[in-house]
Amino acid sequence: MCESIPPECLPASEERRASAEPAASQGLRLHLPRLPRRTVLTGLGSVFLAGCMPASAATREARAGAPARSAPRRPRPAPRRRPAYEVVSREQWGAEALKDNHDPMARITRITVHHTAEIAGMQERGDADLVLGIQNFHRNTRGWADIGYHWVIGRDGKVYEGRKLHVQGAHAGASNNIENLGISVIGDFSAALPPPAALRTLTLFLRAQQKRYGIPSTEVFGHREFKATACPGDALFGWVERFRARG
Ligand SMILES: [Zn+2]
Repeated sequence: MCESIPPECLPASEERRASAEPAASQGLRLHLPRLPRRTVLTGLGSVFLAGCMPASAATREARAGAPARSAPRRPRPAPRRRPAYEVVSREQWGAEALKDNHDPMARITRITVHHTAEIAGMQERGDADLVLGIQNFHRNTRGWADIGYHWVIGRDGKVYEGRKLHVQGAHAGASNNIENLGISVIGDFSAALPPPAALRTLTLFLRAQQKRYGIPSTEVFGHREFKATACPGDALFGWVERFRARG
């Protein structure tokens, strides 16, 4: 379920993804044209002159003792809410299609937290590549219908869409998968907690799923509560217990 995936399951190269990334993320520098000295000075001059412009009509009226007309108020645009975390779709990380050998999942009543454990070469790989590698191991090596988890949380704090929610997961063992949402965090958390970005997302994401499906905190588990496994690691399991205790 959560054992280390063999290196051959990882995609061969990151070049394909790198070429699709925006220039900024590839470390490209923005080259500005070098302007002639006169142009720069003229530009600066206009900035200084701005302070010497005639006072506005409203200010002139106020100085002359006339009542200042208040400018019509523009409605303020609604503040844009930054999403709490970025969700990466299956299409974005290049998922292979779901196979037929799966059971449906009609509803979700519990959540299980996993870790992926150490993956060979993971320090040199991006999270999307690791998710693709996990899918390759689960789907193609083990013969399952798809990646076992419904969601994977990356070291970058992004949430990667896994198995579709109408499909029962393959993460907690046999009947333990029934109505059970599987969330795995990339890394080995035996000795240390996930990086801050991942832990923040895990907290927010768990709360959001609890709200969405009406799941009480008592129904949030660590994988080891279903079977004899180290997953999700001592450190992260301790965190799950504290999360559950907070209610
Ligand atoms: Zn697990």
